[in-house]
Amino acid sequence: MTNNFSLAIHGGAGTILRSTMTLELQQQYEAGLQNALDAGYGILHAGGSSIDAVEAAVVSLEDFPLFNAGKGAVFNNIGGHEMDAAIMSGKGLEAGAVCGVSHVKNPVALARAIMDDSEHVLLCGQGAEQFAKLRGLVFEDDAYFYVEQRYQQWQQALKEDRVQLDHSDKKFGTVGAVALDKDGSLAAATSTGGMTNKKYGRMGDSPIPGAGTYANNNTCAISCTGHGELFIRSVVAYDISCLIEYKGLSLKEACDVVVYDKLVKIGGEGGLIAIDKHCNIEMPFNSEGMYRACRNSAGRNEVKIYKD
Ligand code: ASP
Repeated sequence: MTNNFSLAIHGGAGTILRSTMTLELQQQYEAGLQNALDAGYGILHAGGSSIDAVEAAVVSLEDFPLFNAGKGAVFNNIGGHEMDAAIMSGKGLEAGAVCGVSHVKNPVALARAIMDDSEHVLLCGQGAEQFAKLRGLVFEDDAYFYVEQRYQQWQQALKEDRVQLDHSDKKFGTVGAVALDKDGSLAAATSTGGMTNKKYGRMGDSPIPGAGTYANNNTCAISCTGHGELFIRSVVAYDISCLIEYKGLSLKEACDVVVYDKLVKIGGEGGLIAIDKHCNIEMPFNSEGMYRACRNSAGRNEVKIYKD
């Protein structure tokens, strides 16, 4: 047992134009991040586990309609919501994930149930929903997931016949959390509605262990946000872990190589949050902004959107 613990969360990366952001909207985003940070940090502070902390933080972000996960998830090309989520524990490399689920209020809770109560890692679509029903998870109707702003974004994307990353100003709204608990265990969780007007059946990086989500007590915990296809091809989260494990890089060095060099070279816009076993926090992004917040036992405590 150590006394070090830390939590970082994100609400998506991208080109969040200052010109389209009002003070009121900014305060709403910051309040959404603060609530999620408090939910997860309270658990860690009380001696709870990192896996409980990341789940609680992501549930809070899923329930907040301005982020593209749970309530607020974007529309796909047939006017539905297909959500992806994953959770991973760094202790024994246990993982649970879902892709393409509809009507499940908190996809991250379903991912957790798959990790804890099934012999599988990743369930998709109707099978995942059936498992959620068996586990007694909460379902919501279409009206709950209808958010006017998301509908208008979909209509615009339909008109222009393009797949769009969350906002017309290219914000990626996926949510995620990473944590280190007092026992030295790392955990990561990510949840998303994916991309506006995405093809029915499309899956992003978020639910894929090693791509958008990864945790390993020997190295670090990572949750990504950005253009999923590029993050899958770059196996971003595991790449960072490998650079630490096999090359002896620090968390910052590993994040810098992947986010500012490797991803940029293939046009992979986005960012990630990361915590290592030494309690260091990194929140790099190669886009204009990333909704993010972190707090640790060493006194670091911040909520940010832009690059300072
Ligand atoms: N990475 C997510 C996806 O491609 C999108 C995002 O981060 O907003 O599904």
